[in-house]
Amino acid sequence: MSELDAEVQTASDYGGEGPPVEEKPYKIIFEANACFGAGKCAEVAHNWEMDIASGMAKPKSYYFAEEELAENVRAAEVCPAKKGDGCIHVVDRRTDEELAPDPHGDGTLSVDW
Ligand code: SF4
Repeated sequence: MSELDAEVQTASDYGGEGPPVEEKPYKIIFEANACFGAGKCAEVAHNWEMDIASGMAKPKSYYFAEEELAENVRAAEVCPAKKGDGCIHVVDRRTDEELAPDPHGDGTLSVDW
């Protein structure tokens, strides 16, 4: 990520191209290094499960459609990592804005890496 270090990081800097935006307008950016395995996400969202080997959460899918937005937002909001800010980021690929947890309240990506 070195070439990005000095720049503001936006959501589109992460992940591959993924499926067409029209089909899956949302994506997850998962700050896995901040996950401490509390499992709250898996309790509230089908898209999240605990990985037995690593003890951390993982999303079944990184790209998703409108129908799955609510549960992924819920997962992002309940995640207690990073002193409550959360390490699951739900991004609208059309605007490149973080919808949840959005601790800054302005849609900027709240990753700490
Ligand atoms: S709620 Fe957050 S910290 Fe807990 S397992 Fe899920 S991603 Fe990890």
